[in-house]
Amino acid sequence: MTFAELQRRPVDHLILGGPHEIVVEFEGLLHPWIRERVVDRLAISATAGPEEVRQAALCVEAGVARRNEAALVGRLRDAVGTGAGVAGLEPTLAAMVERRVDVLLVSEGYATEGWRCRSCRYVGPLGRRCPVCGKAMDLVDDVVEEAVEEALANKCRVQMVRGSADLDVLGRIGALLRF
Ligand SMILES: [Zn+2]
Repeated sequence: MTFAELQRRPVDHLILGGPHEIVVEFEGLLHPWIRERVVDRLAISATAGPEEVRQAALCVEAGVARRNEAALVGRLRDAVGTGAGVAGLEPTLAAMVERRVDVLLVSEGYATEGWRCRSCRYVGPLGRRCPVCGKAMDLVDDVVEEAVEEALANKCRVQMVRGSADLDVLGRIGALLRF
């Protein structure tokens, strides 16, 4: 039944909830395709109401998000070592201009002044003349936000990262590169 339901309504991952022994037994009965998608198990009463289930699931979701972010920051750290990634504002913006960004990682809350060229869309830390087209650029309050917009416009994946000391050490912004 679970398999049929998930074929009908696909999900990225699953959380199993219920009394511990039942969850363990239930998990053993699941199709391997489903079992691979189980991210966590919750001890929760079989009589728990929808709101209790929702809150418990949100907790797990937050944990899953943090784990995914940490894994991505780990990938970035390795990539910077091999040249497949860049970290810090200036190298990241330069990679953006060169259209080399695959995934942009940004520490949530990171904002800093910078420059934006309205003529050719260049985004950079230093003004005022655009190094690409030579036009005068606008000073912007938050060049990080401009970079995120630019990344989304270029169909890059953007990952905001919460409270990662590892990303902060790398300069609070970085990118995995396409090439
Ligand atoms: Zn320009």
